[in-house]
Amino acid sequence: MTNADPQELAKFSDLAHKWWDPESEFRPLHEINPLRLDWIDQLAAIKGKNVADVGCGGGILAESMARKGANVLGVDLADKPLKVAQLHAMEAGVANLDYRSVAAEALAAEQPSHFDVVTCMEMLEHVPDPSSIVQACFDMAKPGGWVFFSTINRNPKAFLFAIVGAEYMLKLLPKGTHEFSRFIRPAELARWAREAGLDLVQFKGMEYNPITRRYWLSGDTSVNYMMACRKPLAS
Ligand code: SAH
Repeated sequence: MTNADPQELAKFSDLAHKWWDPESEFRPLHEINPLRLDWIDQLAAIKGKNVADVGCGGGILAESMARKGANVLGVDLADKPLKVAQLHAMEAGVANLDYRSVAAEALAAEQPSHFDVVTCMEMLEHVPDPSSIVQACFDMAKPGGWVFFSTINRNPKAFLFAIVGAEYMLKLLPKGTHEFSRFIRPAELARWAREAGLDLVQFKGMEYNPITRRYWLSGDTSVNYMMACRKPLAS
């Protein structure tokens, strides 16, 4: 059985045609992308590296990493976003970029210890068994390779900001985008990463000011956050 929720995949397929519209429901992904791209690149120096982007969707992060010179494989299980991603890369003439419909666990079994860098952003909170995705990201990374995750914390503030604020008040995201019970505490993500065999390197919070409409990185992981890990050399 695939570790995927068909309703979640359908949500992203239904909106896929809007993926590259920076004023659409995907505006938050467009706005946070330069921040996360720079952070990933500062730590992992992606130029010339083999990168897997797990849950790549329409390819906002995947394509930007390819533009920085990485060889990127984006994978997802929602077909429409993948098609949009492929078309966009073709029209933009971005090379070093492939997309495939394959489960993270299957890719890890097919290409173990293959990727210098694995990114898995804003995806874990949409899957039935996120720890299995974390394990797959470890498995597909080379020893010494980097693995990056981002997701949303689970606490009253995150409920208020990520669901009530973003979906109902500011309408940044469609209602029903996120389910509170699927949010993941940093300690839970850290435990899954350690159990998979990863070393934790850094946590970063991502904050948003609704008045200035600006995002920035900080030490505050109480709502949106990212985690950088490395696969130990001897593994
Ligand atoms: N990572 C991208 C897209 C985030 S949206 C970015 O940050 O820009 C979440 C994505 O996760 C969607 O494209 C959705 O189709 C994908 N997804 C959800 N469940 C999945 C699963 N089980 N396997 C692979 N991708 C999945």
